[in-house]
Amino acid sequence: MQPFDLVRAPDRRTAVAEGATSHTAQQGASVRFLAGGTTLVDLMKLGVERPGRVVDINRLGLDDIHKQANGDLFIGATARNSDLAHHPLVRGSYSALSQAILAGASTQLRNAATTAGNLLQRTRCMYFRDLASACNKRAPGSGCPAIAGTNRMLAILGTSEACIATNPSDMAVAMMVYDAVVHVQGVAGDRQVPLVDFYVLPGERPDIENVLEAGDLVTHVTLSSPSTGERSTYLKLRDRASYEFALISAAVAIRLTNDGAIASARFALGGIGTRPWRVTEAERELVGQAPSDKAFRDAAEICLEEARPQSQNGFKIELARRCIVHAFKQISQ
Ligand code: SF4
Repeated sequence: MQPFDLVRAPDRRTAVAEGATSHTAQQGASVRFLAGGTTLVDLMKLGVERPGRVVDINRLGLDDIHKQANGDLFIGATARNSDLAHHPLVRGSYSALSQAILAGASTQLRNAATTAGNLLQRTRCMYFRDLASACNKRAPGSGCPAIAGTNRMLAILGTSEACIATNPSDMAVAMMVYDAVVHVQGVAGDRQVPLVDFYVLPGERPDIENVLEAGDLVTHVTLSSPSTGERSTYLKLRDRASYEFALISAAVAIRLTNDGAIASARFALGGIGTRPWRVTEAERELVGQAPSDKAFRDAAEICLEEARPQSQNGFKIELARRCIVHAFKQISQ
């Protein structure tokens, strides 16, 4: 691990100012915020992340979870994943989110990992973590060995000729269906970014993964207040039952009319895209229909229209269809 300066930020303004120093697009981030460290410290040990300065944000008081006056859920950036998953408001009204978090990592990791850190975790593509391999995300322009190599776990949606890495977060997939908004404090002031617009597709620059700029500090995330009668769940399909990343996952939410028709439906997919994947057009197709395998499968087809499988991961298309259908059936019967 290369030497670095450690700064303990006493307040948000200092954190933002520290975060904005020595950060250039050409060099990559030479300053990183540290909260739980469950991704950052791992990658620093591997030499994948090589910040010259690390800014500890654990003393900023950003760990609150509460219902706002408008009914939305406020989740502090450094709220621990375990605290979020087990919070009564989350267990009661945001089931898919609680389930998604508990389906990820281990208890020890969830106790340390934070909300913002989870949103910003890096891909698990094995070439990205191996300095002996080329990787456009780690070293832009060096190539992508995954496309002709081991790609079973990698993405089939949102890919480019430069990168096919999957976004690994379960939590972000669930947050998508609750219309999450990411709140950011930056050098130029505060701003809000809908989670659906937070991640950018890899294109020719897979090293750029989101819309954050130098010094931007995620302060909290808000989720829309749940509709009366809405049910949600998270279904994660993986090679083993615990401590494993998704082959496919689906966060789904549905509300039925008194007659049993679909009044509203939302769903997002994980393990399949270069970012958590939500297609609102597919959701609109479900409204007014009776819940059925055919209706859910048709919605899945719309969601998967632009799928581009690689040599080893074509199975994800049918697995995604089944995951969507099964998850919706679980909560609509
Ligand atoms: Fe790197 Fe992306 Fe290719 Fe993996 S898929 S080797 S992260 S460029």
